Amino acid sequence: MGFRLPDVSLPEFAHLIGDSAEAAGTGETFAHVYPASGEVTREIRLASADDVDRAVGAARAAQPAWRAMPGDKRRDLMLRLASVIEARAAEMSPLLSAENGSILLAGPHMSADAAQKFRYFGGWADKLEGRTVPTWGGPAHDYVAYEPYGTIGVIVPWNGPLFAATMVMAPALAAGNCIVLKAPETAPWSIMKLVELIRLAGFPPGVVNLVTGGADVGAAMVEHPGIDKIEFIGSGATAKTILASAARSLKPVGLELGGKSAVLVFADANLQAAAKRGLSGAVSANGQGCVNGTRLLVERAIYEPYVEMLKAMAAHVKVGDPFTMDTIMGPVISEAALDRIHGMVTRGTAEGARVVCGGARMGGDHAGGAFYPVTVLADVAHGSEIARTEVFGPVIVVTPFDSEEEAITLANDTDYGLGAYVHTTDLARAHRVAGQMMAGQVQVNGSGEAMTPCVPFGGMKHSGHGRLGGIEGLREFQQVRNVWINLQ
Ligand code: NAD
Repeated sequence: MGFRLPDVSLPEFAHLIGDSAEAAGTGETFAHVYPASGEVTREIRLASADDVDRAVGAARAAQPAWRAMPGDKRRDLMLRLASVIEARAAEMSPLLSAENGSILLAGPHMSADAAQKFRYFGGWADKLEGRTVPTWGGPAHDYVAYEPYGTIGVIVPWNGPLFAATMVMAPALAAGNCIVLKAPETAPWSIMKLVELIRLAGFPPGVVNLVTGGADVGAAMVEHPGIDKIEFIGSGATAKTILASAARSLKPVGLELGGKSAVLVFADANLQAAAKRGLSGAVSANGQGCVNGTRLLVERAIYEPYVEMLKAMAAHVKVGDPFTMDTIMGPVISEAALDRIHGMVTRGTAEGARVVCGGARMGGDHAGGAFYPVTVLADVAHGSEIARTEVFGPVIVVTPFDSEEEAITLANDTDYGLGAYVHTTDLARAHRVAGQMMAGQVQVNGSGEAMTPCVPFGGMKHSGHGRLGGIEGLREFQQVRNVWINLQ
C-alpha cells in the first residue's frame, strides 16, 4: 500500500513550444509512478524528435530579440519571475513531492532557491560589461565583448529537477540565450509548473521552450544542429554517451555529474554538529543528492563515539509519507533503484562493512513504496565498491584515519571531485586541508549551506567540468569576442 498520493493538481501542459502549450507530444506514452505508493499519477504523451525540432525553431526565432532586449528589461522580467515563483510556492511544493517523493517540508526552500537564482542572475543581466585591453605594438583599440551562445539545450535529472533546471536557466537567460529544456519523464511536474510561471511572468514566447521526455528526446537535443550548447546534469554514464554524440558536431557541453563526496571529521571537531551534518549525507534529498557527503573519514580517536552518535541520530529520522510535515525522509525514486541500492549494501557487507543501522528494505506501512532506511556502514574498506561508487540512496560509509595526511590521501583517492566537507575547530587545519581537496566545492563545518546562487558549483575529475552559480556560472553561457581596431 505505501503512502497514497493526496489530491494534487498536476500541471495542464507537458510541452511548451513557442506560444503553444501542449498537453500531448508526438512521442511515446509514459506512466509516471509516485514512488511512495507505486501508483501511477498520470500517463504523459512524451515529446519526439519532431517536437524537439519545433522547440529549437521557436528558440532560434526568439533569440535575436531576446539578445537585443536592453539588459534592464531582461533584468526586470527575471525579477518578476522570482516574485511569481515565491507567490506560487504553495502550488509548487506538492508537485515537488508528487514527482519524486521528496518531502513536503523541503518544498518552500526549493521555491525560494529557484526565486533567488532568478534574482541573482537577473541582477547580472544589466551588467554584462566587456573590457578594454591596452595593446602591444602600434596604436590600436582592443576590446573584449561577451556574447550569448544562442540556444542552450538543458537536460536535467529526476532527483532535483527544479533545482537543476533553474541553476542553468537563470545564468543562460541573463546572458541573452534562449532555452530548450527537457523535463525528465520520471519527475516532470515541477518543471512543467516552472514553465507555466515563466509564461505568467510575461516572458516572450520562444525564450523558454519545454519538451518532456526520456533518453531519446535528450539524444535528439544533443544531435540537433540548432542547439548551440548543451548543459547536462546527470550521471557519468549518460555524459559519456552525450560527449560521443556531441563530438560529431563539435558541440560544447557543460557537465554536472555525480559524486562520492568525502566528509573529514577531525578529533577537534564539534562532534555533535559533525555527526548531524555527517548523517545528512544519507538523509538529504532522500539520500539522492549529487553533492551529499557519503564517504565519512573519521579520526580514530573519536571513531567509535562518532559512529554511535550517527546511530543514535539516525533512529530519530522519521521515514515515511512525503506529505506529512514531520517526515524527514521519503522513498527512493523507484523499485529498481531500491534493488540497486540494496545490492550495493549487500556486497559492501560481504566485503567486511559493519551495518550500524538500516541495511534492509522497510516493511509494514512502508512495504508498498520504495522505502529504504537510513543506512550507516562502518569499518568500510577504502578500496571496496561501496566506498568508491556513488550509491545514490540513503547510505553513508564510515572509515577511520590516523593522521591528517592519511585523511587527505583517502579523501582524494576517488574518481569523483564534486564536494568535500571538513569538520574541525582548528582554523589553520581548515585552510590547510581545504586547500588540498580535489573537489569543486569544499565546505568547512557545513553540509550544504554553501549551495547558493552566488557561488560557483561544479566538479573536478569525473564529477564534471564547467561551473554553475556566481560569475563563473554566467560565463558558461557567454562566448568571447575580441575586437582589435587599427588606429594608425
Ligand atoms: P541520468 O544520466 O540517467 O539522466 C539524466 C538526464 O539525461 C535525464 O533527463 C535523462 O532522460 C537524460 N538522458 C538519458 N540518456 C540520455 C542520452 N543518451 N542523451 C541525452 N539525454 C539523456 O541521471 P539520473 O539517474 O536522472 O540522475 C542521477 C545522476 O545525476 C547522479 O549521478 C547524480 O549525482 C547526478 N546529479 C548531478 C548533479 C550536479 O549538479 N552535479 C545534480 C543532480 C544530479
